Amino acid sequence: MIAMQIQNAYLTHNRPKTRRSRTTAIAVHWVANPNSTAMANRNYFNTTSRAVSSNYIIGLQGEILCCIPDEETSWCTNEANSYTVSVECCHPDWTGCFTGKTYTSLVELTAQLCQKYHLDPQNGGVIRHYDVTRKICPKWFVPASRGGSDTNDERHWKQFLHDVARQMQRGSTAISTPAAEPDSYRVRVTVDALRIRKGAGTSYAITGCIRDKGVYTIIKTCGNWGKLKSGAGWICLGYCRKL
Ligand SMILES: [Zn+2]
Repeated sequence: MIAMQIQNAYLTHNRPKTRRSRTTAIAVHWVANPNSTAMANRNYFNTTSRAVSSNYIIGLQGEILCCIPDEETSWCTNEANSYTVSVECCHPDWTGCFTGKTYTSLVELTAQLCQKYHLDPQNGGVIRHYDVTRKICPKWFVPASRGGSDTNDERHWKQFLHDVARQMQRGSTAISTPAAEPDSYRVRVTVDALRIRKGAGTSYAITGCIRDKGVYTIIKTCGNWGKLKSGAGWICLGYCRKL
């Protein structure tokens, strides 16, 4: 596997320097601080009096900072710290939706770590902070009924685990700089009724419904959501096929 570009930004504080004796999962988080940068979050870990830190932080541009080597414990996932590698993700707003670049890096990094530690992402090898403590973290992958931005049948989360598994099978075309997203593309709606929402997530108000299984142009992507060219709002791409 080709090494991704990971920036070494080791902490001088909040790094317990304890080697994990076993690593049985990768734990995914959000920083819960909209629009903050990866380095700002790293610097917070390095200066706060709270015992908090993370192995990795992925920024809004897809940049990856390593704050603590992944063989060592970080203070991120409560009782799971002793057996998980932690990955924090930045996000533009309170929906917790990831930019395409952050998402791509998250898939790549998680796939690489799963290979290193021989973990199956779709069989407990990748977890959310939510799975350990029921904390709403990362919000994009927690169901709306639990206060998150995922669908109640967890389409964002399942898609992510699927994307990690597919990335591992691919053996990796590993990114050094995240690929640019296309400006716009077309999708065909695959369900009889697809709600249109004011923003990218189920927490946003419903503004309409697509009932024609038609072809629509998406001009912006946010996680698993696409913004309609018509200006009508956002739709969940889990119910569409990309053309
Ligand atoms: Zn968390």
